[in-house]
Amino acid sequence: MRRTIVAGNWKMNASKESVDELILGILSGMNEVSSEVVVCPSFPYLSQVEDLIADSQVKLGAQNLNTNSSGAFTGEVSANMIKEFGVGHVIVGHSERRSFYGETNALVAEKVKTALDNNLTPLLCVGESLEQREAGETEAVVAEQINAVIELVGVGAFSNIIIAYEPVWAIGTGKTASPEQAQAAHLFIRTLLGESNENIAQNTHILYGGSMNAANANELITCADIDGGLIGGASLKAEDFLQICKAG
Ligand code: PEP
Repeated sequence: MRRTIVAGNWKMNASKESVDELILGILSGMNEVSSEVVVCPSFPYLSQVEDLIADSQVKLGAQNLNTNSSGAFTGEVSANMIKEFGVGHVIVGHSERRSFYGETNALVAEKVKTALDNNLTPLLCVGESLEQREAGETEAVVAEQINAVIELVGVGAFSNIIIAYEPVWAIGTGKTASPEQAQAAHLFIRTLLGESNENIAQNTHILYGGSMNAANANELITCADIDGGLIGGASLKAEDFLQICKAG
């Protein structure tokens, strides 16, 4: 049985003041939440969030990492650095990083490997653009993204990887994939993993991401192969985020 996981990707949002308010709001409702909950603030707020969530069931994630452990990489952050702040999860391969910062399938796979080598759980994001969906390429694109990771770390490593299926056309657009569209993509991903290892396929968490909100979370999370959500915009409002955490 896969436990529901809900992760909040705050992206480049928040301030010292709003972090306090958001985390305290989330903590106030956690007694009614049975899902695993992860929050992923920007790097400057990791320490603040670490302190605020100490002794709670909320887990801490980062939004990116560099594949090197240290050195002359101005502006970058290593696995060792984020681990010093209690980070256990790291988002890898988000579509914004793939499109704005040129992250290729090969680099994303290297980042997954770096995370695993450092005992961090990668939240591996995959998903197709609108053009790719309309061209009937969804499955081919997603398979290529996942196969790049399998080729580098092996399918067995997926026992420590969380996948987030995030159709690019649904991210931040208010256009959510229908439960049928999302379920079909999730089933495809699980079947793809199953071609290499059925046990891994059945135990891998596959989250949906793309304009999930308090109103649509339940119908998505109750789909057979949807094991939770990676939430952008709605993770910045404690009440909405809590509502999603209670779904399923
Ligand atoms: C995301 O960026 O991972 C995401 C799912 O964003 P949103 O929920 O805002 O679409």
